[in-house]
Amino acid sequence: MRLISQIFQPVVTIPKGAKIKNTEITCKSQKLLLECGLVRPTSAGLFTLLPLARRAVTKIENIIHRCLEEVGAQRITLPCLTSAKLWAASGRLDDVGPELIKVEDRHGKKFLLAPTHEEAIADLLADVGPISYKQLPFTLYQIGNKYRDEQRPKHGLLRAREFSMMDAYSVHASHSCAADTYSALTRAYTKIFRTLDLPVLRVQAPTGEMGGTLSHEWQLPSSAGEDTVAVCPSCSHTTLANETEECAKCGKEIERVNSIEVSHTFVLGTRYSEPLQVNCVGPDSSAPLHMGCYGIGITRLLAAILEVLSSDKSMRWPIEVAPYSAVVIGPKEGSKEWLKHDFDRVLGVAQRIHENGYRGDVLVDDRHGLTIGKRLMMADRIGYPFIIVCGKSALETPPRYELYRSTGGEAPTPQLLTIDELLTVMNERKNNINIEYRENVVV
Ligand SMILES: [Zn+2]
Repeated sequence: MRLISQIFQPVVTIPKGAKIKNTEITCKSQKLLLECGLVRPTSAGLFTLLPLARRAVTKIENIIHRCLEEVGAQRITLPCLTSAKLWAASGRLDDVGPELIKVEDRHGKKFLLAPTHEEAIADLLADVGPISYKQLPFTLYQIGNKYRDEQRPKHGLLRAREFSMMDAYSVHASHSCAADTYSALTRAYTKIFRTLDLPVLRVQAPTGEMGGTLSHEWQLPSSAGEDTVAVCPSCSHTTLANETEECAKCGKEIERVNSIEVSHTFVLGTRYSEPLQVNCVGPDSSAPLHMGCYGIGITRLLAAILEVLSSDKSMRWPIEVAPYSAVVIGPKEGSKEWLKHDFDRVLGVAQRIHENGYRGDVLVDDRHGLTIGKRLMMADRIGYPFIIVCGKSALETPPRYELYRSTGGEAPTPQLLTIDELLTVMNERKNNINIEYRENVVV
């Protein structure tokens, strides 16, 4: 059982208006993650994810894996370094310009730390090609770090220079096939955001420097967002904010809200296959492949979740993402409760929860020198979805435990439950998905 005293979680208090590693603290998620000991900046726009944040990210990754594998996508890993030659061939070396982090090896060969991998995928296909139309379609995806040399990195993980992304690439013989896969993948996206219980909006967007024929941004409304979307309060039709005041569908007046772009999807057509000469061999002739690409900013999504759900003082998570689902707090050492409900009994409670659908996802607060109240306050600040306290009622026969739910806002009031009632309540959780914590889930 994991004990809180063993968790590497360097908490700090940040004075108002402080600069940390040359970066201003400008938003809630940045402040909470740093103060609660979940991340540490190493320099402007670069962050170390500490154990609790790393677990939350792994949980997000696992949800993404499941939803993508369900629609047939296959996971790969591409190198972070992409040859600059490929980006010169696609024309993006100059287009993206100063945001690219360029490096050179000892032989003078030029590379870049890739912000995205369309060129690398096209090169992979060219390398194994020619590809027969009979092999198509397929979708490859990866989860890894991406790089963008932001002029002014800010808002912590919302706009970092190194960030984790899921990027998927679909490969097709025709435009209509690409459109079908685009629909399937965007349905998987909807499922991902629904599992996370986030009101992410799909908004048609210009294709920009990425190119292609169709694109959507996936926007999460949040006051910390740097984007703006226009939402119709009547029919929910959503567009990127533009000059118009009226909904294109129903004519009602639109509302503008700030939002965070958590994902972007594109039908690319032959934007990359043509310059990089990736062809599909059909029954009669050969033609450039069609591609689609799909990204989700994972570390940005983590920060966006905290922006939307947390208060200024306390973190809040979707239950599927919280670093641990539950924490068990025992009595203070030497108290009356402690005499009857000692550490072994507390461990026993945690063990029952662990065995009932929360394997590897339960913490025990073993700082028995601290009062229950103090530890409850700290647990509430981290936002564990289920906080179980062995207090006065634990002396009753049968013992009853206090269950606090972190649902934000006001001081939580506990339910008093026997161990069996507690397990029943914890298994009635929303979505009813398997919450067991696993590294590198294989579907
Ligand atoms: Zn409307």
